[in-house]
Amino acid sequence: TTKQLIMSEKLAAIGEITAGVAHEINNPIAVIQGNLEVLRMLLGDHAKVASTEIRLIDEQVDRINQIVMKLLQFAKPDEYAGYADRHAPDEVISDCLPLVRHLLRKTDIEVVREATASRLVLMNRTELQQVLINLIVNAIHAMPGGGTLTMKTWDMNKEDVAGVSIEISDTGVGMSADVIARIFDPFYTTKSRQGTGLGLSITQTLVSRQGGDIKVESIEGTGTVFTIWLPENA
Ligand code: ADP
Repeated sequence: TTKQLIMSEKLAAIGEITAGVAHEINNPIAVIQGNLEVLRMLLGDHAKVASTEIRLIDEQVDRINQIVMKLLQFAKPDEYAGYADRHAPDEVISDCLPLVRHLLRKTDIEVVREATASRLVLMNRTELQQVLINLIVNAIHAMPGGGTLTMKTWDMNKEDVAGVSIEISDTGVGMSADVIARIFDPFYTTKSRQGTGLGLSITQTLVSRQGGDIKVESIEGTGTVFTIWLPENA
């Protein structure tokens, strides 16, 4: 439809501008990071005095870097596409868990796994990891008061195409129908300070590029279930 056409043109324009801005931000960030290292060396013994401040600057520069990477990936998904090969989804999930351990530490969240998939999925490993981490981090954010984070995998065919389903669910805050309708929109976030609103948009792009899909079911106050399906072959 015309509306969809205008929307996709708008998104393309946003993508161009975003990519340009992100590239521009990369240079000053590199200079700040380089000079932080120099400062550390120059301070030598005095480094202890300023270590908290330097660490804070370092962390925040890191955060800017992550946002810029997300923006670039959102704006130019094909340019940042990695080479796809086959992976056991449960192995990749196992790789992700250490990366979110620091988020789990302060919470009362129980992690439950049900790994039954025997097939491999075709996807770039880093991208698959990113998809899973996006969903896992969202699930953790949804359970500030604790709960259960469940990760299941099983072999599944879709229209005679062999693949694997991966379910990531939480017993967290859930979402209203209005929120569900917008979660895959770029820059849509309900996390005022912490969120970029790009996680699910990128996740959807990466999954559908492999011929897969992503579905969500959620009940406010009860929890959310995200299910991605990925084919075994191209
Ligand atoms: P961000 O996490 O930066 O906000 P996302 O694109 O990953 O961006 O998510 C968009 C929004 O979808 C979130 O701000 C949140 O409102 C909602 N959301 C995503 N996952 C969940 C979840 N598991 N439970 C409740 N809400 C969620």
